[in-house]
Amino acid sequence: MSKKIVILGAGYAGLRALHELQKEAADIEITLVDRNEYHYEATDLHEVAAGTQKSERIIYPIRDVVKNSCTTFIQGTVSAIDTEQQLVKLADGKTLSYDYLVVALGFESESFGIPGVDEYSLQMVDVDTAEKIYQHIEEQMKNYKEMQDENALKIIVCGAGFTGIELLGALTDGKKKLAEAAGVDSEKIRLYCVEAVTRLLPMFSEKLSDYGINKLKDWGVEFLTGKPIKEIKEGSVVYLDDKENNTLKELHGGTIIWTTGVSGSHVIGASGFEEKRGRVMVNPDLTYPGRDNVYIIGDCSAVMDEESQRPYPTTAQISLKMGECAGKNIKAQLRGKSTQPFTFHSLGSVCSIGNTHAFGEVGKMEIKGYPASFVKKAIMDRSLFETGGVKEVLAKGRFDFYH
Ligand code: NAD
Repeated sequence: MSKKIVILGAGYAGLRALHELQKEAADIEITLVDRNEYHYEATDLHEVAAGTQKSERIIYPIRDVVKNSCTTFIQGTVSAIDTEQQLVKLADGKTLSYDYLVVALGFESESFGIPGVDEYSLQMVDVDTAEKIYQHIEEQMKNYKEMQDENALKIIVCGAGFTGIELLGALTDGKKKLAEAAGVDSEKIRLYCVEAVTRLLPMFSEKLSDYGINKLKDWGVEFLTGKPIKEIKEGSVVYLDDKENNTLKELHGGTIIWTTGVSGSHVIGASGFEEKRGRVMVNPDLTYPGRDNVYIIGDCSAVMDEESQRPYPTTAQISLKMGECAGKNIKAQLRGKSTQPFTFHSLGSVCSIGNTHAFGEVGKMEIKGYPASFVKKAIMDRSLFETGGVKEVLAKGRFDFYH
């Protein structure tokens, strides 16, 4: 009898696992579930939010990568997983049974319980929320034309992690267009970043992260570092200005974007998995402890890096590699062979600051400026290739290397 494999989520991890499993000649029935009918490049959301890229450029139909001979795609929202009964529950009441399960449900924005975050700031977690950010900014520019309130021209990014910095880079690229919409000079568009710590982007050397931050400063971004955010109010960010005296200050702005970190999908907690911020500490082969037919991969998964003795970070590159590993391990199990532990050797990490600038590391080499931006685009095209193949790279790839 054929084995049923259910994959939850068509992001980097889920689609990479699908790709691996669809190569299997054995008798398998795969069901892929995602709430959208399209896959999106999560690493490019900041460009949609800043209006420098149309969402159509960062999505492709999931059906493009589904092999109908072995896979059924269901557009649906997962509400819970029951590993005891081997069932997945969908929001529309449907249930799916499985022999093997791959949980790749991705990330959600983390508010850390800070008051006002959900009500008064904008999140950037998927295509819809990224589009909403840009629509909101456009509205603020129109508001300025009517009301002449300078706050409408102020955009505040909360958090200077990878996401916040890449977003600020894209916003500096988009400033000219925004200024035209508001009928002002582009230096009147004010970009702020409020960040709790002073040592930014600790995955890079201090010299390299200073390079990136100083570039953004040169382009007009105002950084408030060492200022933990305590509350978001309608139209303002309240931060701790002086730790010793416990004094708070307020920064006003018409657009407030929350990028202070992520957690794994809430479905993980709702399903009773042992988790922390939606992430599950999995076995070295990516299975859930005590359930060798349940793989948890991507942003919902925490797997220990033996070298650093810390869990691997959540990145697209690691999600892709986890998808490949889970797919291979299920194939091994189907053949009665043993599974292999997850291993990862980073190709490097590059942070974009706009379309033609970036900084980062490739192997042990530090790169910056335009060459780094070239490498960044090559990394993005590679991710696209690993889930979508040649067709999607030709349609959506970044070949505008020369500016
Ligand atoms: P992050 O956790 O990397 O950064 C969040 C930042 O917000 C930190 O600098 C933190 O100090 C700050 N912060 C947290 N609470 C705060 C508060 N109350 N007030 C002010 N500042 C606060 O989160 P992220 O940038 O959303 O990234 C999430 C994950 O995705 C990371 O692992 C990141 O490396 C990864 N990522 C990778 C890429 C890439 O490789 N191209 C791009 C984006 C994100």
